[in-house]
Amino acid sequence: MTVKIRPLAAGNWKMNGVTASLAEIAAIAESAAGIGGADVLICPPATLIAQAVAAAAGRIAIGGQDCHAKASGAHTGDISAEQLRDAGAGFVLVGHSERRADHGESDAVVRAKAEAALRAGLVAVVCVGETNLQREAGQTLAVVGGQLSASLPHGATAQNLVVAYEPVWAIGTGLTPTPEDVAEVHGFIRRELVDLLPEAGAVVRILYGGSVKPSNAAELMAVENVNGALVGGASLTAKDFLGIASVYE
Ligand code: PEP
Repeated sequence: MTVKIRPLAAGNWKMNGVTASLAEIAAIAESAAGIGGADVLICPPATLIAQAVAAAAGRIAIGGQDCHAKASGAHTGDISAEQLRDAGAGFVLVGHSERRADHGESDAVVRAKAEAALRAGLVAVVCVGETNLQREAGQTLAVVGGQLSASLPHGATAQNLVVAYEPVWAIGTGLTPTPEDVAEVHGFIRRELVDLLPEAGAVVRILYGGSVKPSNAAELMAVENVNGALVGGASLTAKDFLGIASVYE
């Protein structure tokens, strides 16, 4: 029996966006009714979350880009999952490759953050993906499998966990794997999820991320076991993001 999985079109604004950018979120939210076949999520910088929640008017979800593993305490500059939830976020990205690289986040740290997300009632979007060196060494599946088994949170369900496969070499480069390559990795992730989460693994959403654009979205989103997109650069304007999300009209 094929289980229907509702896709997720997600945007990661990274360290981009000021108050004026909220108009893009309002425009995406206004068009959300037309994207009837998917849930829509935008993760703006933390400075904009509360205002983004207001601009979204309940039509799309708003998420954070990272959270601390602890609920509160002496961690200057960090933000807890509980604080994100308090600001109105419903999701949080954890383990994005830029966090893993820039902040040395290990799989154990990513797992602790994902568990914090679940504790706070957020959906954790756990990001995994190989570097170009790892890919060229034929290590893609081993790297992704290792990240999954070491960073998925305990207590994960199809409701509180999303996995995003983002090959590091495809992020922000304009390069994308072929649909066949995406199918291979997503099929592998699905099998690993079923193994790791016997109850939920068959229906946890697996997003593809890395240089998704309006021009390649339909091809990438049509690949088996691709249940949506995590979009960086092309999520910054309503026009481009809606050009991707319209795959799910
Ligand atoms: C990302 O950073 O999550 C991402 C997918 O970026 P881009 O779409 O710009 O490659």
